[in-house]
Order: sequence, then C-alpha cells, then structure tokens
Amino acid sequence: MSDFNRDKLVDGLRKKGIRDERVLKAIAEVHRELFIPAAIKHHAYEDVALPIGQGQTISQPYTVAFMTEALKINEGDSVLEIGTGSGYQAAILINMGVKVFSIERNTELYNKSLKLFDKLGLRVAVRCSDGTLGWNDFAPYNGIIVTAGAPSIPENLKKQLAVGGRLVVPVGDKKSQILKVLTKVEEDRFLTEDIPQFKFVPLIGREGWKE
Ligand code: SAH
Repeated sequence: MSDFNRDKLVDGLRKKGIRDERVLKAIAEVHRELFIPAAIKHHAYEDVALPIGQGQTISQPYTVAFMTEALKINEGDSVLEIGTGSGYQAAILINMGVKVFSIERNTELYNKSLKLFDKLGLRVAVRCSDGTLGWNDFAPYNGIIVTAGAPSIPENLKKQLAVGGRLVVPVGDKKSQILKVLTKVEEDRFLTEDIPQFKFVPLIGREGWKE
C-alpha cells in the first residue's frame, strides 16, 4: 500500500479538524492494512470503520484520531485501552511513545492481536477479560480509552484513572453514543466534556451491556 494513500488519509483528518501533530504523525506511520483482513486491504486508507471478524470493527481513522487527541497524553504515560479489537488503536499509542495496557473480551480477537503485536514487535500488555472492571494491577493510568459503546461510565475505570488523567468513553444506547471526555481534577472530582454523534460496537460486561 503506498505512502500516498496514508498521506491522503492524514490530509483528510487535518481537514476534519484533527490538530495534534503527534496523532497525525502516528496515523501517517502505522500501516492500517496490517490490522484488517486481507480481502479488504484496498479499503485500509479510507476514513471508514471496517469489519475485523467476530461481528466487530476496526474504528474509523477519524474516530481513532479524535479519541487519541482527546486523551492529551505525553510520551512515557501509561494508557489503558478497553477493546483491543484489531490492535490498531494500541499501535497508534505505542507509536506515540505511550505504555499501553489493553483488554479484549473476545478470545479469538485477543489471540489474533497477541500474535500480531508479537510479529510487529509492538510491546503492548494484553489481557483477555471484561474490561469494564479495568486492570487494577497497573493503575493508575494517565489515560483510559474505551473503544466500544457503554450504557454508562464504568465506575472501576474512573477509580483507575490518575489525577490529571483523562477517560474517553462513548456512552449512549446501542445505536449511537456521545463521546464523554472526563478529566480527573482530584480524587472523586471530574470535569466532563460531551461530544455528540459517534457510533461504536457495544461494550459488553459487568458494567456494560448484557449479552
Ligand atoms: N480499538 C479497536 C476497536 C475494536 S471494536 C481497534 O483499534 O480495532 C471494540 C472491541 O471491544 C471489540 O473487539 C469487542 O470485542 C471489545 N469489547 C466489547 N466489550 C468489551 C469488554 N467489556 N472488555 C473488553 N473488550 C470488550
């Protein structure tokens, strides 16, 4: 896949309002075609969500860029991702010099991403479990990103966020969600920003949707 396609995607994201140069650089450098099924590789640099099997999708590049920008993270920070899926979002964060911890509940997708990270030499800590409970062993995190739509904000994730950190989570019904960006200003105090109209696959779990 040519660099030209990736550059075009980045130009498009710039036009759609993505400003963080570190995020744009990561999207320009990470090869999205490595994270999608071979049969649809020619769609890799279109700004659309694509199927990755198990009824799940790799998020639209704009959504990945928007959520990553909203995290406002710095090199060396640690980020918890809920919903590893294809592994693309995790790869973007690794490219930005972040320590990534990622949870996937689907065994097939978990195994697949584990193998892919290994093959690409990406040091992502992955776990197969219910991400609505977070990953307490490595908490607190400077950023937490939930890549599936939740019925409400999981309390466990709020607890596992560092003071000064941000939690980015889509909340709504199963059809459409509002992206919530919470900043933990002090223990038990959060500032919330709402960004309308996002569409994610459902977050399933104890503090998510029931199957
Ligand atoms: N970040 C992914 C997007 C994957 S779609 C990427 O870059 O490709 C969302 C993923 O969340 C799906 O793989 C789904 O299986 C997973 N998921 C849903 N509920 C979950 C939960 N409670 N814990 C962990 N993963 C979950």
